[in-house]
Amino acid sequence: MEIAAATEGSAPVAKTGALIVGAGPTGLTLACELARRGAPFRIVAAAGGPSTTAKAGQLHSRTLEVLEDMGALEGAEELGVRVYGMTVYAEGRRVLHSGHDDLDAPYPYELACGQDRIERLLLDLLSRLGSRVEWHSRLETIAPDGGGALATLAGAHGASRRIRARWVIGCDGARSTVRELTGGRLERAACPEEWLVGEVRLDWQQPPDEQYAFLSEEGGFAALTCQPLPQERWRLTASLPPAHRTPGHREPDPSLAGLRELFERTGATAGRLSDLSGVTIHRVARRTVERRVAGPLILAGDAAHLTSPLGGVGMNNGIQDAHNLGWKLALALEGVAGPELIDSYAAERQAIVRRPLSTSNRSHVLRSLRRPLAGELRGRLPGFLAHFDHITDRSYRDQAQISSGYRDSPIVGEEAGAPLPRAGPSDHGSQLAAWTSFARGPRAGDRAPDSPEIREGDGGPRRLFEVLAGSEHALLMFLGCEQPHAQTLATATAIARRVGDGYGSRVTAHLVVPAGRPVAGYDWPGPVILDPTEALHNRYGARGECLVLIRPDGYIGFRAQPPSFQALSRHLSGIFAPMAIVSS
Ligand SMILES: Cc1cc2nc3c(=O)[nH]c(=O)nc-3n(C[C@H](O)[C@H](O)[C@H](O)COP(=O)(O)OP(=O)(O)OC[C@H]3O[C@@H](n4cnc5c(N)ncnc54)[C@H](O)[C@@H]3O)c2cc1C
Repeated sequence: MEIAAATEGSAPVAKTGALIVGAGPTGLTLACELARRGAPFRIVAAAGGPSTTAKAGQLHSRTLEVLEDMGALEGAEELGVRVYGMTVYAEGRRVLHSGHDDLDAPYPYELACGQDRIERLLLDLLSRLGSRVEWHSRLETIAPDGGGALATLAGAHGASRRIRARWVIGCDGARSTVRELTGGRLERAACPEEWLVGEVRLDWQQPPDEQYAFLSEEGGFAALTCQPLPQERWRLTASLPPAHRTPGHREPDPSLAGLRELFERTGATAGRLSDLSGVTIHRVARRTVERRVAGPLILAGDAAHLTSPLGGVGMNNGIQDAHNLGWKLALALEGVAGPELIDSYAAERQAIVRRPLSTSNRSHVLRSLRRPLAGELRGRLPGFLAHFDHITDRSYRDQAQISSGYRDSPIVGEEAGAPLPRAGPSDHGSQLAAWTSFARGPRAGDRAPDSPEIREGDGGPRRLFEVLAGSEHALLMFLGCEQPHAQTLATATAIARRVGDGYGSRVTAHLVVPAGRPVAGYDWPGPVILDPTEALHNRYGARGECLVLIRPDGYIGFRAQPPSFQALSRHLSGIFAPMAIVSS
């Protein structure tokens, strides 16, 4: 991406730190993340207001966690329908069921509530945070301006104004003007797909807590998915890949009669369709921009990556892009992080969206079939289900801790000692147990898992995510369950104090105390998390004393066993510029 040469203009110039172009789910999430950190920004949108149609339908489990962290989830549960899994029918016979019930997460389901409602939730949050969207503001040009960019915007009546910003973030959707103006290109797609999307009222026997897919090869391959929406409505998505058209095989008819025919052709169980709305035909391919960050320009959401509507990942990707970028951009705007931190946004999120659709679950899918499939359907089923690998691919979910992580990121790391000390008296059994536990725990770059039943002081049981919601970097100083209390406590408090002295409120250290230890009276002024069932220690592979640094976006940035201040500060020096350090 490059910015074209500056042109003269007479419109007045305003100044800001970050100019967010676009107020869909991506731009609104980013705005909330900057607003809650007090970072200087403006958010503009060509539209006159938020979406009024459902568009993307479902919030995935990880996105629900993100919204909880942001404080935007309150009220969302009432707006939506919980979807616990997916059942697949082939030629009218039930062949596969895959559910979220084994998901190790606080939200073991998807929430179907429609993009319009999600945008309103985010707008409400933004307003509570004291900011607002400047609607009717269309970006027209961008020019280089010192270290930043100068944007020209057209208002509702054509009035032009200019905004100078250190960063311009294009959250302006699939037809991104920021991307176009700066010559950013989407990588060429191998095979575009065509999807018919519409909403109907559907009276049938299927419970509305699952989504259903109906596949058929009679008269050519056809796929129809039915996803529940609130108020007894359903989202229908039908596919007809162009590569598979035969002369007698026409496009899906976007009328109610056409959908009824498709419903019957795919062998969908008896149902009555009525009240059709919002029918669109999407011709999309999974495409990604070559570069997300170029100087002061950043792309996020649909502007950076296009995907098919089938698996419902477009909006979820956009919200997670913005959650990854928000804390980094806030630090950069404050001047306490360099551009390398912004570059890590590009590296981390590109790796996620470039991850090939999973075909590794092909044999698993075919093995899980309740009935054997023959012919073309057998060949096509794994590819179709790859769009839903957040539901169907267990190995992907297990390995990735319900969401893709950032293990290969340039800004995550870990240090582990030897399984046994070289010399000196020690209990080798407990040392080995501690080392093994750490080796099996979630790794740097993984999503930091939740854990129930922890306590703070005299308070009742809480989840870790509740304790950490909205926090910046959180350092968990695990005392471990295997070593003497006095020794591990002394090490943990010494490191926690040095972190507090060095990084102030940018990194909050928590002592994590296992069962059988005092619940109060610690010579440590910071937060203490009691772990009476040791579930938190076990979940983090912390049978032995260790430290785990959780980033503001809920991923493990660094971990070390045994805990070491030197190792931690080496890591933090790659995140924060020297001026972020309070004192040495
Ligand atoms: C009919 C329909 C159905 C869909 N169904 C699904 C689905 O089932 N599942 C799924 O995952 N996804 C679906 N999508 C895609 C999903 O809506 C997107 O992935 C999601 O909206 C991306 O969010 P975003 O914030 O990145 O971009 P958008 O939501 O597209 O927001 C773009 C924003 O940029 C603004 N903008 C655009 N140009 C300019 C400019 N020049 N200057 C200033 N502002 C500008 C717009 O006003 C808007 O505020 C559907 C989309 C449509 C249209």
